[in-house]
Amino acid sequence: MTTDHSMGFLLEKIEKKPYYETFDVAKRRKIYLIRKSYDENVKLPENLIVETAKQEAIAVDSWKKAKAVKNFLMFRFELEKLVELKKRAAEILMDVKRTSTTYDALIDIYEPKMTAEKLTGIFDNLRKSLVLIIAKCQNRKEHLEMSLLQRRVPIDVQRKISNILVNTIDYDVESEMAGGRIDETEHPFTTGYYDDVRITTHYYEDNFASAIFSILHEGGHAIYEQGLRQEWMFQPIGSTCSLGFHESQSRLFENIIGRSKEFWTYFLPKLKELTGTTFTDVTLDDFVSAINQVKLSKIRIEADEATYCLHIIIRFEIERDLMAGKVTVAELPQIWNQKYKDYLGLEIKNDSEGLMQDTHWAKGLIGYFPTYALGNIYSGQIITKMQKDLSGWRKKVSEGNLHTIKQWLIENVYTYGNLYNPEDLIKKITMEEVNITHYLDYLNEKLSRIYKF
Ligand code: ZN
Repeated sequence: MTTDHSMGFLLEKIEKKPYYETFDVAKRRKIYLIRKSYDENVKLPENLIVETAKQEAIAVDSWKKAKAVKNFLMFRFELEKLVELKKRAAEILMDVKRTSTTYDALIDIYEPKMTAEKLTGIFDNLRKSLVLIIAKCQNRKEHLEMSLLQRRVPIDVQRKISNILVNTIDYDVESEMAGGRIDETEHPFTTGYYDDVRITTHYYEDNFASAIFSILHEGGHAIYEQGLRQEWMFQPIGSTCSLGFHESQSRLFENIIGRSKEFWTYFLPKLKELTGTTFTDVTLDDFVSAINQVKLSKIRIEADEATYCLHIIIRFEIERDLMAGKVTVAELPQIWNQKYKDYLGLEIKNDSEGLMQDTHWAKGLIGYFPTYALGNIYSGQIITKMQKDLSGWRKKVSEGNLHTIKQWLIENVYTYGNLYNPEDLIKKITMEEVNITHYLDYLNEKLSRIYKF
């Protein structure tokens, strides 16, 4: 229905009406979003969409097999075919979206109007600053009591902890009218809309923190979806702003709140109560230090807050150069490994712990990775603004009261739905352009306390 010609006629009819210019922002945005989706979808030929969908399925299958035996050559040919198809689509989308490069056309799918040029500037500065912060943490050789994170917590107890956690952030999974649910999957995710938003997690008996932070992460995604303006339900503007914004909300709950000393001032006694004698000897400082450890890792999804963005920047630089034809798929392992050496000082031993670790490229998701780092950057900006408006929020968190924070987010973030593009929305909320300093200040402040620099 959305690609039917009658939709095109209708759009044209509305846009040509003399009163079109008098529409308010919300009405015009709705037309804009429908137009955008219509133009993009009708321009992509059916055979290209079919071929791409088939190739994505083939590539994912081949990626799984190649990753299992650590052999990139098994995957390379299928990835090359998929990249060619993505380039063809991107060339078409580049015209429709009027972007200056094919890569920008792909980024725009996930983060509207963001460009590789802007990201290069943002990420270059971010990378340099993060490398300095990481070096400071490494040099201190501070001993953190990490083994406490491996203490066994039975899975049924972890399920109880999850329920209390989501309750704390006002994500209802228990009441009669609950619009939420927690289920269990291999990899955690969030799905749904408004009054039916579900999250999943994965429980490991010897890694209880994994579920705690994934619950807070997915919970952050979920309450964003639930907090959108009711009267916009089922409308184009009744959706979240971008993937970057979505990540800013999940990371705000997972990291900025969830790994704060204030949150654990409230929650550690609860954790102790639920787990018998498991954590009796653990102090608040030891716990907070352990969950904030900075450790160089080869694997993105295991990365901490300080090193995470470096993983993203590596992927961004590779995608950018791949789309620009500066590098080939065949060269990817070598380029990947070199960047891990240069930025993180790590020696990649095989491609399964290297460029085949993520599923994104096999699924044709090119242009998606930058949104993760943007989420961190936005979350830093948003928290600075919230600090100005709600200076007592940290104290409230230490009392287990997150209602005022959620209310602030509803009024200042969720309420805008998809009314603006991400760069305009961050400006609307914080009166600033995309700005990395807030995220860096936040990291510096927290890590300097833990690593005493
Ligand atoms: Zn997420």
